[in-house]
This record gives sequence, structure tokens and C-alpha cells, in this order.
Amino acid sequence: MFLVGGIHGDEPAGAGALEIIRDDLSVGAGKVIILPRANIPALEAGERYAPGARDLNRAFPVDEEKDWTGRLASEIWNIVIEYEVDIIFDLHEARDFYQISDSVGQTVILNPHPDGALLALHLVTEINQHLPPGKKRFTYISPTVQNSLTRVANENWKYPPLFLKLLW
Ligand SMILES: [Zn+2]
Repeated sequence: MFLVGGIHGDEPAGAGALEIIRDDLSVGAGKVIILPRANIPALEAGERYAPGARDLNRAFPVDEEKDWTGRLASEIWNIVIEYEVDIIFDLHEARDFYQISDSVGQTVILNPHPDGALLALHLVTEINQHLPPGKKRFTYISPTVQNSLTRVANENWKYPPLFLKLLW
């Protein structure tokens, strides 16, 4: 399992969440790879992209163009290949609520797979159980955006990645 945060620098919640769970995570089987701060310059700038760079979440698997963004995407993609990752959770934030604006909001976004809907239903049920009354509930949608890490992994790998959107 590959847990990724901080692909967009103005969405630090995923990075923060992964840094919190990293030290307390107990793994019963297999491997969990955690990359909490995938795009450090963007996180430090508090901007969606690193200064002078492109959108990392549209640069997978490996752009022909070998600019800084393409090289970073290539390094992250190499983790997926080297460790034969079965499932990816890529944590992002959204600016608004789903179905209220064009934002994907509080959603789990999955890519096509026979078990994907069942897993997504389980995830949103768990998340929603921990939300206070009156808060907007999570839902799931599909698929993730083209040329994102999870979309490309889904199209190129044997198991489906998911793309977890968090709104804090
Ligand atoms: Zn994002």
C-alpha cells in the first residue's frame, strides 16, 4: 500500500495526516510505503505547484518532457513500480463541498475495479461515522483525473489504486 500526501502544496492536510499516523502505524502483513510530502517545494510555498513548476498531479506516469515536475513524477512512479504497489491512497483537500460547487469536495474518488465500489463504500461509511452531526457526509465518485498518479497507476497496473480526497 502506498500512501501519498502533499502532491499539491496548498493542500497540506494529507501530509499532516500521514506524518501523524506514520509513527503509530502497525502493519500486520505486507508493506505500507508512506510519502507524506511528495512535493516539498510546493508545500513550503503553500502553492498548488512548486515555484516555476507544473501540476504534479497531471504529470504521471512520466512525461516525455524532463522538466522538474516530470522528474519528480518519475521518481514517485518508480516507487510504484519498484515495490509493486497494489493500492494507492493519494490524499488531497478540496475547496468546497461536493455537489454544491464544481469542487470534488468531501469524496473518495476511486478508479474502476470490481471491488472498488465496495471498498469505497466501506471507507465513506467509516469516515462518516466519525463526523459530528450536521456536517456534510462523504460520498464516493469515479474516476480520478487524467494523468494523476492514481489514474495512471490504475490504467497500468494489475490492482486498482484509489484516490482519497479529504476536506478538513
Ligand atoms: Zn490536490
